Amino acid sequence: MSDSQKIWLDGELVDEADAKISIFDHGLLYGDGIFEGIRAYNGRVFRLKEHVERLFLSAKAILLDMPWTESEVCDIVCETVRANGLSDGYIRLVVTRGSGGLGLNPYLCPKPSMFCIAASIQLYPKEHYENGLELITCSTRRPTHATLSPQVKSLNYLNNVMAKVECIQAGVMEGLMLNEHGTVAECTGDTVFIVKDGVVYTPPISDGALDGITRAVIFELCERLDIKIVEKTMTRYDVYTSDECFLTGTAAEVIPVVKMDSRAIGDGTPGEVFKKLLDGFRHETTTTGVDIA
Ligand code: PMP
Repeated sequence: MSDSQKIWLDGELVDEADAKISIFDHGLLYGDGIFEGIRAYNGRVFRLKEHVERLFLSAKAILLDMPWTESEVCDIVCETVRANGLSDGYIRLVVTRGSGGLGLNPYLCPKPSMFCIAASIQLYPKEHYENGLELITCSTRRPTHATLSPQVKSLNYLNNVMAKVECIQAGVMEGLMLNEHGTVAECTGDTVFIVKDGVVYTPPISDGALDGITRAVIFELCERLDIKIVEKTMTRYDVYTSDECFLTGTAAEVIPVVKMDSRAIGDGTPGEVFKKLLDGFRHETTTTGVDIA
């Protein structure tokens, strides 16, 4: 990170070296907080309103009172991107419960902290975007709706981190996470899609998939391109026998999958439906969004 990196922290833009959070912050002590990962393309923040709305839904779910309005948070994101002289980048927006005692009680944290980082991210090596990723099935399951809802984008990502560790130890970059019923939920930080006989399928939110912003973009693109898309509970068998598979996410963007658990997906190369959707996604990211200026 460069010296000139500016972080928005609790109302001020400060140098990265001065962006400090208390060690008593419950975000750090307990993962008690929420976040969003957002991207800017061509001087515009992509789907900003949707990300901020999801942040506020996460806040509501964990009873965290946001001291900022949605529109103020949108302005803060744009201000941070601007202050860092970026026109393309990855933005991390984090709200923690704030500093409190060593016990769990969140009511002992007088006010939340918010910070915004505008930097860059490369989730997977570049060659995988052209040639495709290989997946394994992780043994770590996606948390169930009977625990903290997997819809809450909380700071507690340890489950996903452990799934990622399994992938890396198996020599691959990404893995499929199943839900408690053994059907497909999503990947460690991405939504999963398959294509079979020209129809695109993705698991419903109720199967443990995050209500992804990029997922919603794929639904819009399918409608526009006249490609049928269906939410369907899927098993690993469905993925193994699909014609195509791809993942989406703000950080990941849209990336093809060509192998899972040693089985080639389709002919083992990125498919035609994926390519059409990638073109559509690229067009969408470069022509829409909230101007940072
Ligand atoms: N699932 C998980 C667990 C994630 O962290 C993300 C990244 N936010 C996604 C899916 C993809 O969601 P989005 O398209 O909104 O980035």
